[in-house]
Amino acid sequence: MPELPEVETVRRGLAPAMEGARFVAVKAHRRDLRWPLPKDFATRLQGKTVVGLGRRAKYLLADLSSGDVLLMHLGMSGSFRVDRDGGEQVPGKYHHERGQHLAHDHVVFRMSSGAVVTFNDPRRFGSMKIVPRTRLDEEPLLRSLGPEPLGNAFDAAMLAHACWRKTTSLKAALSDQRIVAGLGNIYVCEALHRARLSPKRKASTAATRSGAPNVRAERLVAGIRAVLTEAIKAGGSSLRDHKRTDGELGLFQHNFRVYDRAGEPCPTPGCTGTIKRIVQNGRATFFCPVCQR
Ligand SMILES: [Zn+2]
Repeated sequence: MPELPEVETVRRGLAPAMEGARFVAVKAHRRDLRWPLPKDFATRLQGKTVVGLGRRAKYLLADLSSGDVLLMHLGMSGSFRVDRDGGEQVPGKYHHERGQHLAHDHVVFRMSSGAVVTFNDPRRFGSMKIVPRTRLDEEPLLRSLGPEPLGNAFDAAMLAHACWRKTTSLKAALSDQRIVAGLGNIYVCEALHRARLSPKRKASTAATRSGAPNVRAERLVAGIRAVLTEAIKAGGSSLRDHKRTDGELGLFQHNFRVYDRAGEPCPTPGCTGTIKRIVQNGRATFFCPVCQR
């Protein structure tokens, strides 16, 4: 499942094709994504210009000249493809994969930039929704989301306050979208490893008795920011190399320090630990029991 860095990579890949461009034609081959597309989907988009392409947590938000916002979510298996005349921007391997999956091309945007943006989603957990910009604050999909982990509102004081009276684990707290938006299983594991904190530790230990931030809260914020920033940077270079916007290449498995590395030596310098896999709330957690305390 794409996480925040992958979605940000997708946003950066789509921006040159969509920002400042008008929807010339909109085709929905299948309307039954995670939720049905609105009946007036095509008419509300056609002829409108994308003023800006932003992101909130794992949602892409295309701001339209009409005052509407197009919300797009990749779900479990969604991806976007940008095709331009000439097709020179796509490597050969890409053509092969694309041919196999044409049946899953559900939504196609023909843009005035000359680009054709296609949403492909085999499992159809992805979604698209159109919301008036003035009602964005009330939008149920966005309303309860916590701050952006790379934004100014997310800091040690905020995190400590959110964790203060929580008896759940740090892993569960960081995975809670109301506390911090957009972090999934992979980057929570990676951030905890960088912060050298056990995923099993109680969330409340990231705050002092009075709810003030302590050194653990500081380390968590730094760990989260570092791991996301590096992943976005890696995603950016994958975009330059492959001209893909499915975010898949943003998931650089070899860059993960603990995720999916059970049994391997801990990469922390000087640590003799071995990465362990446990299950918390039904999800796999990877961590080093030696340096993560
Ligand atoms: Zn270790």
